[in-house]
Amino acid sequence: MPDPSPSAPAKIRLKDLSPQEISDLAESLGEKPFRGRQIASWLFRRGCQDFGEMTDVSKSSRQSLARLCTVGPLMALAKDEADPGGARRLLWRLSDGLMVESVLLAEPGHLTLCVSSQVGCRMGCLFCRTGTLGLRRNLSQGEILGQIMQARRLLPEDGPSLTNVVFMGMGEPLDNADNVLRSLSVITSPDYLALASRHVTLSTVGVIPQIERIMASGGLRGGLTISLGSADDSVRSHLMPCNRAWPLGELKKVLAAFPLPRGRRLTFAYVLLEGVNDGLDQARELSRFLSGLRAKINLIPFNAWPGAPFRRPSARAVEAFRDILVEKRHTAQIRDTKGASVNAACGLLVASQA
Ligand code: SF4
Repeated sequence: MPDPSPSAPAKIRLKDLSPQEISDLAESLGEKPFRGRQIASWLFRRGCQDFGEMTDVSKSSRQSLARLCTVGPLMALAKDEADPGGARRLLWRLSDGLMVESVLLAEPGHLTLCVSSQVGCRMGCLFCRTGTLGLRRNLSQGEILGQIMQARRLLPEDGPSLTNVVFMGMGEPLDNADNVLRSLSVITSPDYLALASRHVTLSTVGVIPQIERIMASGGLRGGLTISLGSADDSVRSHLMPCNRAWPLGELKKVLAAFPLPRGRRLTFAYVLLEGVNDGLDQARELSRFLSGLRAKINLIPFNAWPGAPFRRPSARAVEAFRDILVEKRHTAQIRDTKGASVNAACGLLVASQA
């Protein structure tokens, strides 16, 4: 899967370009304007892997494109593992040999793909196994979209099709905002991947400058989930070092002004760690933080991994925490863990081949 071979001059990787950039490139090669749209449709709608698949593009056009470009970036499926609970872990080998993973989650009425935005992550959240890897590199637009397009190709034609995409895999999406936001345009475009923006969710620790950038550009083509960890600054700064740069007070101010479509709410994800952030006082603190925000809360009991510095709270403690929030009239639900047996559950992604 050379893409390109190290000795060949680097070619343009078409799936890393926006549809407009592809049209401009095609025109610069003497093609008619419609040709670029046709090529973008092959790449992003049908997930084409080879110029030979573009059967309604003339052979001479394909040849002139192939001299300059590849249909890549290409990625190979290195492992495909199913969990009895309905999760399917897809491990991808990228063209430079690095690995990244996505997870398909089947639930009644929808099929969700959890995609990665980076190889590793530099945010260092203590409860997250991906954080132990550090950041290797950002994924390109084509590598983000490739996870979706190739996962779609793996689905049986007579089975359920992909309905939702969540950016909750490896990496902090807003630490790779350019490529993630460009990908969102293709994912939600009716001409390409055509997922409704209400079925696409970006999860972040709360990178305030990038949230402000999204707000300045008119909003997000998808829902926003904030990983909270704690509503107390000192606990959150310990668990999530990002809180030292973007503390809770500032985060709340920005989120209160975040433009939400009618009827939509922000989602807060709160990983519950025994004896660290699962006390009833912390539930009340969380309730105070949420007051005034249009929000719902997903409570995620910690998924332990070997050597993890935390334990999962008991089911009773989790329910007691949820009950405090519900008493205070918040929408709070406990999210059951899928994929733990194949290390595909929330916070466990390390792209290992084991
Ligand atoms: S929770 Fe997200 S942002 Fe934090 S270390 Fe893990 S992948 Fe990175």
